[in-house]
Parts: sequence; structure tokens; C-alpha cells
Amino acid sequence: MALGLLITGVAMPISQAAPVYTFPVQGCKYTYGKYHHNYPATDILTHVGCLFVAPTAGVVDEVNRIDRFTWKTDLGADRGGLSISIIGDDGVRYYGSHLSYISAKIVPGYLVKVGEVMGRTGDSGDARGTAPHLHFGISWPTPPGIWWVRRGELYPWKYLDAWKIGKNLSPVQSVKALEKKVGLVPKQVGY
Ligand SMILES: [Zn+2]
Repeated sequence: MALGLLITGVAMPISQAAPVYTFPVQGCKYTYGKYHHNYPATDILTHVGCLFVAPTAGVVDEVNRIDRFTWKTDLGADRGGLSISIIGDDGVRYYGSHLSYISAKIVPGYLVKVGEVMGRTGDSGDARGTAPHLHFGISWPTPPGIWWVRRGELYPWKYLDAWKIGKNLSPVQSVKALEKKVGLVPKQVGY
């Protein structure tokens, strides 16, 4: 595939091959801004039941299928509700939370293709009772359960801006530089 398809004797350039990155919400209208409370991430406001797709090819990392969140305990680990993280083939971790549904096949170790449907958007976790949205985070792989890194370390908005218009802007270099600066498992920053 890397060599391109031969059509009427002309090799298609690599730039016309399948996209490397795609927007993580599909099938619905959405809005998002540059701001996120307390730490870098993006809340993509949309409806309940829209498709959450793999933003790039990779392997499923952590999956949480049970919404354990209550305001009584307000545990950071529970705030995402139903969530999925994947480690992209680019080495970057991508995380989506507040889901309403996760596909049965989405289990740790499952290989996803770019654009493959993984679940549906919703308002689980601490988004319950608020506007449904996909919380989207970009970070680096860590040992399991390091939710304060998994939820987001690098602002995703400029990558989302690129992916929604079909540009393959990669966060790899920025993520590597940030991890080098703060370490694999930095102290929790922000609430
Ligand atoms: Zn959020």
C-alpha cells in the first residue's frame, strides 16, 4: 500500500493514500474551543450517540465500561465515565471519555484502524446532567491507571483543526518534547 495503487498506469502519490489522522467525532455536528478547565484537553460538544472513531491507527490501551462516578466521592479516576484510550502507531496516546457506549470488540490489545468506530458519545462520568461532549485528550503511554496523564497533557485543538479538514498534522514531536520535560508520570497538575 505504501507504494500507492496503480491506476491507468499512474502511481498515486502517497498524499492520496488513506488518511493517517481523522477527526474523532463523526456523523454529527460539533463545536469545540481552545479552552479546557484545569489542564490541557478539548471538550468536543455534540449529541449523545454520535460516533467516536479512532483518530489514528493503533492499539487499544485502557477501557472503562462502567460509570462509577458519583459527586459524593468525585474521584479523578471516575470522572471520565465510559472511556477508551488507544496508543497510536505514532506512539501518542489518544483518549476519549463521557461515552454512552463502547463497542464489544474494543478491549485492550485490539488493533484499530484510523476512523474505526470505537463507541458513541454521551454524558457519562462527571458530564452527567451537562451538555453531552467527547472529552478528548492527547498524552504519552504510561503504566495503567495514570488517569491524570491519560486525560490530557497537550492541547489537542490545533490537531483537531487540521484533522477536520483532512490534514495529517502530527502531535508526535510536541508530545515527545513535553514528556521529556515533565517525565513519564508527572505529579497531577490541575484538579
Ligand atoms: Zn473535558
